Amino acid sequence: MSVALNPIQARRVNGTLRRPDMFYVYDDGTESDKSSDKILTADCADNSTQTKENPRQRLTIPKCLITPRRKLKRGKLKLMDWKKYHRLSVIYAFIEELERDYPAICTVSVIGKSVEGRDIKMLKISNSNADNSGVWLDACIHSREWITVAVITYIADMIVKNFHTLSSAVTSKDWHIIPVLNPDGYEYTHTHERMWRKNRARYGGECVGVDLNRNFSYGWGQLTGEDGSSDEPNHIFYRGPTPFSEPETIAVRDTILASITPFKVFISFHSYYELIIFPWGNRQDPCPDYLHLLEGGAVMARVTPRNT
Ligand SMILES: [Zn+2]
Repeated sequence: MSVALNPIQARRVNGTLRRPDMFYVYDDGTESDKSSDKILTADCADNSTQTKENPRQRLTIPKCLITPRRKLKRGKLKLMDWKKYHRLSVIYAFIEELERDYPAICTVSVIGKSVEGRDIKMLKISNSNADNSGVWLDACIHSREWITVAVITYIADMIVKNFHTLSSAVTSKDWHIIPVLNPDGYEYTHTHERMWRKNRARYGGECVGVDLNRNFSYGWGQLTGEDGSSDEPNHIFYRGPTPFSEPETIAVRDTILASITPFKVFISFHSYYELIIFPWGNRQDPCPDYLHLLEGGAVMARVTPRNT
């Protein structure tokens, strides 16, 4: 795992002065300047934060209510595991099973419908504490990036099934987990074209698909080509006719804006490359919370997976 950093000024890496916009920190603490500008711009994440006071009252849930409501049946996990990739129905059955088994902390809701009418489902994990802050995790906004679904369903499984043993750093969050943000594209990658990336909207005759993470309003259409997005419906980076033209991005926007919980974290999982990307993506100067993002990204990049 590596993290892309954005120092303000050019710096020396391995004895050579490198361009100011990128270098990498690896697990062992070494740094490199391997170039991947196109990869960075081809797969940027959309980040969002909001802060406001939460007037709700504090609630406390006894630990006994966080344990499964019913005894797990032997063999019931046949449908869902992390040894292979699964269809949408299995993914949704999995989060609904978590809701059934852990009703005190799990809620599944439909936050929108895709272009072709499929549900966009969200698993919320929360102890309903009024002081919680919100965390957003989504996967497969780019439908071919299947492993992102496996990653965040695994995260969900770990949080839910170990909730009463986890630190308050985890349990003080309202986790909003959207395992498949682009369900039409996801199913299409299973049934027709494995490397399909966009959604299944139709603009301009036979041209299909909007590149959903180019469809958010901030900086929409500001950069073109490989550094940004395209106004050509047949382009892989097609940004759509207007910002938030797609129901999938509308679902993200409306869910966050309607939330009582203030969001502090927004992470969109991709698997195009081993990078952690944070704002700004559309300009050179650092964003206001650049140092915090840099610190968090570096910590994430240096985490060594446990050998289990
Ligand atoms: Zn992606």
